[in-house]
Amino acid sequence: MSTTATTPAESPTEPAPRVPPAVEIHEVQKWYGAQQVLKGVSLTVRRGEVTVVLGPSGSGKSTLLRVVNHLEKPEAGHVRLAGELIGVRRHKGRLKELSERAILAQRGRIGFVFQNFNLFPHLTVLDNVAAAPVATGRLGKEEAKEVARGLLARVGLGDRAGAYPRQLSGGQQQRVAIARALALRPEVVLFDEPTSALDPELVGEVLDVIRDLATSGTTLLVVTHEIGFAREVADHVVFLDEGRVVEQGPPAQVLDHPSHPRTRDFLRRVL
Ligand code: ADP
Ligand code: MG
Repeated sequence: MSTTATTPAESPTEPAPRVPPAVEIHEVQKWYGAQQVLKGVSLTVRRGEVTVVLGPSGSGKSTLLRVVNHLEKPEAGHVRLAGELIGVRRHKGRLKELSERAILAQRGRIGFVFQNFNLFPHLTVLDNVAAAPVATGRLGKEEAKEVARGLLARVGLGDRAGAYPRQLSGGQQQRVAIARALALRPEVVLFDEPTSALDPELVGEVLDVIRDLATSGTTLLVVTHEIGFAREVADHVVFLDEGRVVEQGPPAQVLDHPSHPRTRDFLRRVL
């Protein structure tokens, strides 16, 4: 619709309305017993962007993703999903845990792809992808299967709908896991080292699918050691070490001109 009036949002003198980022991690601290695993981590995942988290083994990358999904509760700090607190709500100035049901609803807005696929072994590929929309009451069985077929075609597995996970290669299983993560139309998809468990010759097919999601504007938060992939696809790279963000920025900066010796050291080892 064309209009001559200028709305406040379009006026250069008015600030644009604040659109909250897809994910905002704010000063998150996480302890396991006496060990502090996250030491005040903050990072922002903007809508439609790909954020890649790098870091040595044990630096807290998986824990950070699990905090985003509220699979782990942080001892301090918080996470917001599209501006909304994850797992907690403010009540009389204090944070109170949300109900299990509300937490599940939030988790439905976040896709999660694990290192080891975690498919249901007793379900066909099609049912693996259709399961969540049915279980959450979001879609009827037939409708969910229709959506699942479309997603399987998208990850190049339209012809394997009736197979069981054990009949597929690791790369195919991971592509099913990605289709499953998309089934609830999440606002962001988290990947925890999605290609680390794969034989080298199967890595490419999984990265191709993730690249396709990135190109189509899906918001992604990806933990990976695939530096070439990060350089090509990431909008923002975060280097985590010993529970702290050591440096972050555009890939050309962090990967090609790292300012911190620990980042340089890490990149030398993985490249
Ligand atoms: P990364 O994914 O970067 O390898 P993790 O987040 O898995 O690191 O782990 C960070 C640290 O937290 C490690 O020292 C690990 O041993 C410890 N850790 C992770 N999960 C648990 C847990 N459930 N209980 C106790 N310690 C844990
Ligand atoms: Mg990990």
